[in-house]
Amino acid sequence: MEEVLRRKTWVCNFEKPNTSPNSLEPSTTVLSPYLKFGCLSVRLFYSRISDIIKRQKHSQPPVSLIGQIMWREFYYCVAAVTPNFDKMVGNSVCMQIDWDTNKEHLEAWTHGRTGYPFIDAIMRQLRQEGWIHHLARHAVACFLTRGDLWISWEEGQRVFEELLLDADWALNAGNWMWLSASAFFHQFFRVYSPVAFGKKTDPEGKFIRKYVPELARFPAGIIYEPWKANLETQKKLGCIIGKDYPRRIVVHEEISKTNIQRMSAAYKRNKAQKETDLDGDSAPGASTAGKKRPASSSASSKGSATPKKRKLEATIEKFLKKK
Ligand SMILES: Cc1cc2nc3c(=O)[nH]c(=O)nc-3n(C[C@H](O)[C@H](O)[C@H](O)COP(=O)(O)OP(=O)(O)OC[C@H]3O[C@@H](n4cnc5c(N)ncnc54)[C@H](O)[C@@H]3O)c2cc1C
Repeated sequence: MEEVLRRKTWVCNFEKPNTSPNSLEPSTTVLSPYLKFGCLSVRLFYSRISDIIKRQKHSQPPVSLIGQIMWREFYYCVAAVTPNFDKMVGNSVCMQIDWDTNKEHLEAWTHGRTGYPFIDAIMRQLRQEGWIHHLARHAVACFLTRGDLWISWEEGQRVFEELLLDADWALNAGNWMWLSASAFFHQFFRVYSPVAFGKKTDPEGKFIRKYVPELARFPAGIIYEPWKANLETQKKLGCIIGKDYPRRIVVHEEISKTNIQRMSAAYKRNKAQKETDLDGDSAPGASTAGKKRPASSSASSKGSATPKKRKLEATIEKFLKKK
């Protein structure tokens, strides 16, 4: 923390979206493992940042450094009052989505063998080092779920839980829901490209060269899309696609369009279900509790959450009396 806070101008100007997912040296603080294990007190971190920024012009939440700590508190708060926060079913803040099961695709993603060098480099960095940048987490989480593979965020959560040094129950679940557009964030039509996103901050592909050494000799123009090189070029560059490095497991340009439509349909079903729940006097989302898969119909679940509603009304009454 002392090392990070010594760079006062950097602290004051910190804007998360302007940091890089694929720089070779981390572009954020990398204090997450220390915060997670309690080696660093978040109150101390907060007060030290506040001391620095109060004397200077500085960036603002949600993108500032203080903003990052607020995100942490936000997820802790929601997680504390939301039963089944780390699951889709029975989780009142979570969209119910008909995710696919695909063992091969999940394995390929988990071990950095999707055939998309940017995605694979991130997943290999995660396995080797136990930490990846926030926007890199965005890229791989979107790819696994609503962007490309249509696999449940719960699977991604499990892999992160195992591999991240900073694995944190509330933050992991909350962010996975965000990225899969299952909760908090709903612009599911905004999908990260596994090719263009990384190029913005690393056009040379240095990050890929480090973590996917098979492609180290591919030039900048093609390293993000090695399948575009013809066989002769691949041979010259010492890596044959489909033999030394996998062919891409999905075609992003096509599958992402299909998935946006699936997402749109899932949102419509969730809306209809919510209306039925409200008509039927039960809490939204509660109707799916205990079921294995999301209901794709709008079957009513009358009465299942009535005690919950009564409890809520009693709390409100108590609050109003006090006032
Ligand atoms: C799919 C996904 C899963 C994630 N799982 C975890 C996890 O298990 N544990 C974890 O600590 N973070 C998780 N994050 C949030 C975030 O990516 C990391 O906290 C951050 O990248 C850690 O690096 P840093 O310490 O350099 O962050 P900095 O940008 O330097 O931020 C400082 C601190 O603020 C907090 N913070 C920053 N961003 C977030 C955020 N989006 N949500 C909540 N707190 C935040 C962290 O405690 C972090 O150490 C996840 C994000 C995504 C997209």
